[in-house]
Amino acid sequence: MSEVKEQVKVPADVISATAQGFINASISAAVKEAVSGVFASLGPILEKLAMTPEKIRAANTPYVDPDVVARNKRETEKSKQDEKELRAMDAARKAACPHLDQNQRSSIRLIHNYPDRQPRGICPICHDLITPREWRIEAPDAENPKGRAVLYPAHKDYRTVEILEAQSA
Ligand SMILES: [Zn+2]
Repeated sequence: MSEVKEQVKVPADVISATAQGFINASISAAVKEAVSGVFASLGPILEKLAMTPEKIRAANTPYVDPDVVARNKRETEKSKQDEKELRAMDAARKAACPHLDQNQRSSIRLIHNYPDRQPRGICPICHDLITPREWRIEAPDAENPKGRAVLYPAHKDYRTVEILEAQSA
C-alpha cells in the first residue's frame, strides 16, 4: 500500500501552481462534459421512466381483454336488436287485432282507475291498452333529470272506447 502511495504522489516541485491549475481546470471540464454527456444520453430514458399521471392511471387500470369487450358489444347489440324485433312484432300483432269477440262485438273492456279520470280500454285478446291523448313521462335526459314529458296522441281505436263509455253511462 505504501508503495502505491509513493508512486501516485506527485512531488510538489514538479508541477507549477499554474500547471496544476490548468490540470485541475481541464479535469473538471472533462468531468463536467462527461457527466453532462451521460445525462444527455440518459435524458430520453429518464423521461420514459418518469411516472406521468397518464402512466399512473394506465398502471392502475385493470387489464381489459379487447376480445371480451368486442363480444359483449356484439351480444348487447344482438339482444337490443332482438328486443326491437319483438317490440315491432308485438305492435304489429296489436295493430292487426280487430278487438272483436266471437260474436263480432267489441272485445274492448273499459278501465276507469286512472288518475286523470279518462277511460281506457283493454283488449283481452291482444292485450292492447287503448289510451286517450295523454302525457307520459319518458326516461330522463340531460335537460329533464326527473324524466321527459311527452304528449302522446290518442290510440287509433280510442274512438271505440269513447263509444263504449257513452253506451255504458
Ligand atoms: Zn285486440
